[in-house]
Order: sequence, then structure tokens, then C-alpha cells
Amino acid sequence: MLWYAYRRYVALCGILLTFLLYALLLTGRGIAAPHFVLDQGNESLKHANTQVWRKISDFLAGRKYAVLTFDDGPYGYGVDEEIMTTLRKHHAHAVFFLVCSHINSANRGVLARLESDGDLIGNHSYDHLRLDRLAAPALEHQISGCSNRIAELTGMRPYYFRPPFGSTSPRIAGVVRSSGMKQMLWNANSEDGRTTEPEQILNDSVEQTADHSILLMHEKPTTAAALDAMLTRLEQRGFQFVLPDQLSSENVAIN
Ligand SMILES: [Zn+2]
Repeated sequence: MLWYAYRRYVALCGILLTFLLYALLLTGRGIAAPHFVLDQGNESLKHANTQVWRKISDFLAGRKYAVLTFDDGPYGYGVDEEIMTTLRKHHAHAVFFLVCSHINSANRGVLARLESDGDLIGNHSYDHLRLDRLAAPALEHQISGCSNRIAELTGMRPYYFRPPFGSTSPRIAGVVRSSGMKQMLWNANSEDGRTTEPEQILNDSVEQTADHSILLMHEKPTTAAALDAMLTRLEQRGFQFVLPDQLSSENVAIN
């Protein structure tokens, strides 16, 4: 009798432990949070750490990761704040690629709020020109000059640079690198530069965003209007919104 009772006890413990392990893996609790760096060749993210339990957990739970990016700000008129408020509602952070000539006395406070909220300020050039047509001093001003301006206002130099129109060259990339930045392009497009229909922006964004994507958006009223529903739809598909690490040793090694 004792032996049967013991066997039942072992079987029960085995079943409970299996459920516990499965529940732990599904929630990811107790497993180190994943870190990402920019994968420059593929214009996407890649894992900075390769903890196998995290990968199993993400696979079982259907968890995916994406970076949200907003170009051309600050926009002003409350649009930047509207975007930030929606991001907070979804516990998300984003990279805001600012154009230095868009910063003025009315919207300067946006930079402080981005910093204090934990979003990243990126450099999107001084005047949003086509950089490949510029001579060396003008190119330097567009790239390094904008970093200097952002540093003056926030005390921090940006770590990521996005060329206007996504148009780059080895010469531009060289100036970006010597200014201490990484060039971040994208591999998913909200198409919000092409359409003013929030529903279209929502559909394109959800369709194009895959695991480890970098999604291109712009600071615009229509994008701000589409954002809440877009993030909800992406979350329903298992997405979490993350930022790539800055200044990690692996990041420095990627060129
Ligand atoms: Zn732009």
C-alpha cells in the first residue's frame, strides 16, 4: 500500500513540476530580460544575449519584438505628447529621430519629456536635406552639427542617426561613424508618408512588422491617430516594443 501511495505522490509531483516549468517558461518570469542590438546589414534587431531559456520561453509564448521609430519631429501642437501618451499606455518606448531645424522655443520641452520618459532621441540631420549632394563641411554640419545641438539641449549626444529619405552612402556612413553614431534604417514601413488614412497606416504597419523589425513612422497627426489601435493589434500578435542597447561592446563591434 505504501509503495502505491508513494508512486502516486511521485507522479503528482512530476505533473505539478511540469506545469510549473511550463508556466514559468510561458511568462518568462525569472529569466533574464532579452537585450538587442542593431543588425546593420539587415536593418533590423538581433539578440545581444543568446540565453537559451529566454528563446524557448519566447517561442512557447509566441513573443516577438519590434522597435518603433518616429521621424521628422518635433512636430509641436501636442502631437509629440499624444504619441508619447499612447506609448506609455502600451508600456512601450520608441526612438524619435529629430530634425534639428524643427526644434523651436515652442516645442523644445518635447526633448526633456522624451528624455524623462525613457524614449531615445536620434539624429535625423539638421535640415532634412539630401545629404549625398553636400560638400564635406555642409555634411559635417548636417550630421555632427545636429548632434551638438541636441547635446546642448539635453546634455546627451544621440547614439543613432537616420539619414533623410533613408538615402545613404559609404561617405555619409563614414561621417556618421566618426560622429560617434550608428546608422539606423528600417525594414518595416507604416507608409504614413504616402497616405493620410489612419486605417491604411494601421494595416500597412501591422502587415509589415515581423519579429525583430524596425518600423518606420513619422510624427504626424494621422500616425498619432492610428497608433493606439496599431499597438493593440501588434500586441495581440505577441509583439513587445523594445529599444536596442546603446554603447554595448557588441554594438561597437558592428560596422
Ligand atoms: Zn525624414
